[in-house]
Amino acid sequence: MTTWRQHLHRHPEFGFEEHQTAAFVAEELRGFGFDEVTTGVGGTGVVGTLRAGTGNRAIGFRADMDALRIEEQGARPYRSQAPGVMHACGHDGHTAMLLGAAKHLAEHRNFNGTIRFIFQPAEEWGQGMQAMLDDGLLTRFPMEEAYGLHNMPGMEVGSFATRPGAIMAAEDNFEIEITGSGGHASQPHVTSDALLAGCATVTALQSIVSRGTDPAELAVVSATEIRTDGTVNAIASNARILGDCRSFSPEISKSIETAMERIVAGTAAAHGCAAKLSYKRVFVPTINDPEMTQHAIATARALGPTDANTAPMGGSEDFARLTAQIPGNFIFIGNGDSAALHHPSYDFNDAALPHGAGYFARLARRRLPE
Ligand SMILES: [Zn+2]
Ligand SMILES: [Zn+2]
Repeated sequence: MTTWRQHLHRHPEFGFEEHQTAAFVAEELRGFGFDEVTTGVGGTGVVGTLRAGTGNRAIGFRADMDALRIEEQGARPYRSQAPGVMHACGHDGHTAMLLGAAKHLAEHRNFNGTIRFIFQPAEEWGQGMQAMLDDGLLTRFPMEEAYGLHNMPGMEVGSFATRPGAIMAAEDNFEIEITGSGGHASQPHVTSDALLAGCATVTALQSIVSRGTDPAELAVVSATEIRTDGTVNAIASNARILGDCRSFSPEISKSIETAMERIVAGTAAAHGCAAKLSYKRVFVPTINDPEMTQHAIATARALGPTDANTAPMGGSEDFARLTAQIPGNFIFIGNGDSAALHHPSYDFNDAALPHGAGYFARLARRRLPE
């Protein structure tokens, strides 16, 4: 697994460009004697199918294959050979772990049913899983439940953490376009200042969480960028505000959007301007099914220290698109004392590989017992 992981680390590929990675995964799966290996699912995705016994239940295990546009720092021997691209999120490790479980389960076939090994593209973009679903992931490769994991820097190698319910956030992006009428900076009374309306809008958006959301719920609304067509001696006629919202339930995401529509239209009108909101859901929240999570916890506990009720994280995960369709669980696995995810000096910890592979192999036997 270490050899695979370091090979993948040396040859990182960005989302939907994982051609070499997908070919490598498919070749390994075929070499293990898989019953079916299908490439090109949702672009560069790969699905391997393994069967044993006569059982008709099917479960899915997911790994992600994509890297990030980050220049790697550090002089490790298996350093990225692709300029400006690196495995800074450990998807090289996730792929190697799932290949390890695939090899073990293909050799032993000590389960009863069908396992789908899903290697998805473009996780970082939040696009790859939807592309696989649109390409018939669940109709061409039926499965009843799905499991995924992510390495976590700062958590001890061999330890696990998960929780029932929401574990990772939804990410929504918004864009507000305010239109007024600009003019000479010395004649404000004949203009409708889009920048002033924009600033009032940014301030008013802060009431969505503080006054519009149940304090027991988690939500973040951040305006992150403002652009205008004004200049030092001309009042802006146009302002664009961009931003990002996080939440842990579709209901809260919807209520943020509804409040934002009201605030944007009302604040613009109060300043004699017009406004348009576009609100886009990039990642849905990752919701762990309570029953599948009990199986994940029992499996992890047999392998190492397991936090069964870890705090939900504000980051987002594309695996959520799959668990929005079928029940599943997402679990964190310790990466030891490494740099943070997405940091240029981050590296996946190879010592974690057997723990991740062991988790999937043991989970397969638990969910598809002989
Ligand atoms: Zn990432
Ligand atoms: Zn990641």
